[in-house]
Amino acid sequence: TLQIVWLRRDLRMKDQPALHAAAQAGPVIPVFVYDEERGGDHAYGAASKWWLHHSLESFGRSLGKRRAKLVLRKGDAPQVLAAIAAQTGAAAIHAMRHYEPWWKEAEDELRDALGDECELCLYDGNYLLPPGSVTTNSGDPYKIYTPFSKAMLDRMPPRDPLPEPETIHSPDDWPDSDDLEDWDLLPTKPDWAGGIRDFWEVGEDAAHDRLDWWAGEVEKYDDGRNLPSVDHTSRLSSHLHWGEISPATVWHRLKDKRSDGWKTFAKEVIWRDYTQNVIDQFPDYPRESYRDYDERTLWRNPKAGHLIAEDLECWQRGMTGYPVVDAGMRQLWKTGWMHNRVRMICASFLVKHLLIDWRYGERWYWDCLVDADYGNNGVNWQWISGTGVDSNMFSRIMAPLTQSEKFDAGDYIREYVPELADMDDYCIHDPPDDRRGDYPVKMIAHKEARERALEAYRASKD
Ligand code: FAD
Repeated sequence: TLQIVWLRRDLRMKDQPALHAAAQAGPVIPVFVYDEERGGDHAYGAASKWWLHHSLESFGRSLGKRRAKLVLRKGDAPQVLAAIAAQTGAAAIHAMRHYEPWWKEAEDELRDALGDECELCLYDGNYLLPPGSVTTNSGDPYKIYTPFSKAMLDRMPPRDPLPEPETIHSPDDWPDSDDLEDWDLLPTKPDWAGGIRDFWEVGEDAAHDRLDWWAGEVEKYDDGRNLPSVDHTSRLSSHLHWGEISPATVWHRLKDKRSDGWKTFAKEVIWRDYTQNVIDQFPDYPRESYRDYDERTLWRNPKAGHLIAEDLECWQRGMTGYPVVDAGMRQLWKTGWMHNRVRMICASFLVKHLLIDWRYGERWYWDCLVDADYGNNGVNWQWISGTGVDSNMFSRIMAPLTQSEKFDAGDYIREYVPELADMDDYCIHDPPDDRRGDYPVKMIAHKEARERALEAYRASKD
């Protein structure tokens, strides 16, 4: 009997339990529904749309090689899928489980919309272990990363990855499909994606190539991961986010390494599982703070007459006068990605130096990152801003100039802030005002910003 596979952020052939199960049960119709509105205020950002376009293209090609097709439809996902199921008489819809609140809702709506003849079968496999399945001794999900990570390590390795389905049988008739080009996921005028195109190869093959390369580099991770000038992180985040490769595949490829680099890397991959556990428990986490500060006094609030628009724009455009912050923000704009150390420095600068509500920053990263991920982005922003269930202290304020020197960001600055390309090592992190040329002076001095932030923090707790 006919089977439908509903694809979302799981665009891969290997270790794809939903596709695997469907292929064993009968002819398969793989469907991707572009449900533009579903995420609401977290609908696909601009960089995500760029990645999605290419990932769909690549996955469609892989299916084509197996004489299958990817059916593309636009609209409300549960309604579209229920209609295809009714039209084709499919016996089941197979899908990987996703934990964003709008996808959990869509799964419920789809179950309701399907008649008795068609079943919805959900599978785990986009995380090392199913979110919610690792619990404390009292059976509650973990809220704090460190004990969660220890409990995860006790249960590693994850199950073995599944191979590609041996055969994918096609149905006699294919339902209609949209043309991907008609969805306008790519920018046209202006075409801002040149830098992103140069930086990335999209798709499952590219993800595996990157992992092969990373297997030879992972031992450098412990020392190298904090240095933005060098390529010492895996850059697998977008491939993992879009499900072009599974975390179990990554784990099993690297697990026999004995280096400290691998051990540190493994804990970062566990962070990804942690953030899904957080949004599974707190679905609004990327929207709501979880500490009882008075946020009306903590942030410079436009409703209270603070003019933040200009400052926000300087930050977004990489014109703060702090070279490491500006290099990061420009790397983000140019490539759709930013080095983790610099993501932290830039996020901290927005919330502590500029006292701008973390949600403005979360939104900007969401729109610009090719790996924009509801859980990873929301949890990391709250960690930096000191507002989450497991967070850094608000009073821990990163000093951007010290960070820049410590993590040797000189060549990184030269790459992304060309105005400073000729600056000497000794002054590139903080050029003297009379040598800045077109490059702006600092928006606010570090000491002044620090005192202002600590004062706002004290007031917000009164
Ligand atoms: P590596 O260092 O090679 O790490 C391996 C993998 O582990 C990553 O691919 C990622 O899947 C996971 N990982 C690493 N660090 C984290 C982390 N802190 N939290 C969760 N997972 C992690 N990551 C996203 O994938 N999407 C986001 O939207 C996102 N937003 C962020 C916002 C802020 C403010 C900060 C500080 C971090 C954010 N991160 C986000 C986490 C991290 O910066 C990226 O995952 C990492 O830089 C991606 O590069 P990489 O693949 O080379 O990572």
